[in-house]
Amino acid sequence: MYRTHHCGELRQSDVGKEIKMAGWVQTVRKFGSITFVDLRDRYGVTQLLFGEQLTKRLDENPLGREFVLQVNGRVAERTSKNAHLSTGDIEIDVSSYSILNKSATPPFTIQDETDGGEDLRMKYRYLDLRRNELKKNIELRYAVNRAARNYLHENNFIDIETPFLIKSTPEGARDFVVPSRMNAGQFYALPQSPQTFKQLLMVSGYDRYFQVVKCFRDEDLRADRQPEFTQIDCEMSFVEQEDILEMFEGMIKYIFKQVKGIDYAENVERMSWEQAMWDYGNDKPDIRFGMKITNLKSPFKKDGKIEAVGELINGAGFGVFENAETVLALNLKNAGSYTRSQLDELTDWVKRPQIGMQGLVNIRYQKDGSFKSSVDKFYNTEKLKSIAASCKAEPGDLILLLAGREERTRKAIAELRLELGERSGFRKKNEFKLLWVFDFPLFEYSEDDSSPGSIGRWVARHHPFTAPKPADIEIMINNNPAIENAATYLEHPYSGIKANAYDMVLNGNEIGGGSIRIFQRELQEKMFEALGMSKEEAMHKFGFLLGAFEYGAPPHGGIAFGFDRLCAILGGSESIRDFIAFPKNNSGRDMMLDAPSPIDEKQLKELSIRLA
Ligand code: ASP
Repeated sequence: MYRTHHCGELRQSDVGKEIKMAGWVQTVRKFGSITFVDLRDRYGVTQLLFGEQLTKRLDENPLGREFVLQVNGRVAERTSKNAHLSTGDIEIDVSSYSILNKSATPPFTIQDETDGGEDLRMKYRYLDLRRNELKKNIELRYAVNRAARNYLHENNFIDIETPFLIKSTPEGARDFVVPSRMNAGQFYALPQSPQTFKQLLMVSGYDRYFQVVKCFRDEDLRADRQPEFTQIDCEMSFVEQEDILEMFEGMIKYIFKQVKGIDYAENVERMSWEQAMWDYGNDKPDIRFGMKITNLKSPFKKDGKIEAVGELINGAGFGVFENAETVLALNLKNAGSYTRSQLDELTDWVKRPQIGMQGLVNIRYQKDGSFKSSVDKFYNTEKLKSIAASCKAEPGDLILLLAGREERTRKAIAELRLELGERSGFRKKNEFKLLWVFDFPLFEYSEDDSSPGSIGRWVARHHPFTAPKPADIEIMINNNPAIENAATYLEHPYSGIKANAYDMVLNGNEIGGGSIRIFQRELQEKMFEALGMSKEEAMHKFGFLLGAFEYGAPPHGGIAFGFDRLCAILGGSESIRDFIAFPKNNSGRDMMLDAPSPIDEKQLKELSIRLA
């Protein structure tokens, strides 16, 4: 037997016990004729004491870091206790030991604060995983997984596996493809999600399905994206939006409770997509803090009409605002005393290529009620006062204004809001705020269409299986999706169609998203047509689903949660990589395996593939 106890287990009350223990050598410290060794395993660290005799043996055959060691000995009380260690009251008085395996000197120290850079740690991921921090993350990941499974199991969901070698499921990314040897010249696609399969399972009558499942999307890797990632993927039959929101609000709260011990008692806040865009500039607002946007001028339609016409700021001769499509403002409380250099720094921040603005206008509302502003040449005190009032600013506050094209400006101000929130300490790691966002537009207009002569086209904002809101189904069926020209797409009846879709947002991150699905063949065909698919193409790609809809498809809907991200947020980290045992780096490489890599001629030949 290698061990009777693990390295995190023994306490004062165990003193006197004869034990066996095994693990990795963390440190070796020689004190005159005796030696202390810290032995580590998954559960903790225990101090070993090697007496004079054994130390002599060690001198001949020294232990090194990460050697695998097995010891027999007796639990003894320590003379100098270590309060930082759970086993710090005791040590093992070693009577005999054996080295189970040697270790080369590890390329970085296996400690909480390691000296290894990320690339090195990725290459030796199996060593990195020995570190406490990663171990905690992997354990947390399992806890989230278990909690989700328990909850879903209790609610009658069953876990059903779906295939990985499939035909494309569009989730808005490129497919990874796998050549078929047995069908020369043909390819499988790896699923971007099990979307169509889970819908087929609903047709089959498995009315509550889930899977903790790998999804594959060949996207350009922005920071913190992985080409393969995990979803908690769910689908239910005979449900409306409200049923889904309730069920999965319950699941997240259950996970909070089980994993973090947090009672999330309040109802999850809800917000329409329009409201989120209007107030926060993006569809996944961090609502841990306010700082809402003031829309001074914008073509953004709220409740079907344009609300911010620019009356307050137009007509003063300030060209930047006059000519801008959109002018948006933020009120930073109690920052009216910002210095020039602080303002310059913020201006540089919005000019960074990632934000891409030309400049930042400021209005400093002084404590005495006067104004200092980068635009007081154009706006007199009265005007500035009106602008301040519309931003709900008070003496002592700082108003920051961005102007430009609608989409970019809204995006930029959303980023600026988050940045200011971060700097002001409003985005606390241990505070969790959930939000449902719904009533998204069903379609987005895309200008970049490669087909010649095209003037742009509709793309599905979520995926093509998402149903319109019941009230909008008629609009979709009764109108021709064709767009006359780019300028009129906003007037097209399709631009107002709302999706029966919802996202769950946690602290400004989209952690889950789903929708009520189309379940009638006619409507699904109309959807494919709207997305520019010919009848033949739709049949070729999705004939199986259209066919299934002819055999009694029930109304259904579902949701998928980004499991990696959910774990990262619950673990208080920005990086999903730290919560994946074997992740890829930013260029999609597995540094440890050195993959992807070329394959040999013979393999290519078998696959009937010739490289270009
Ligand atoms: N398949 C969707 C996704 O991966 C989720 C869903 O609609 O259930 O985003």
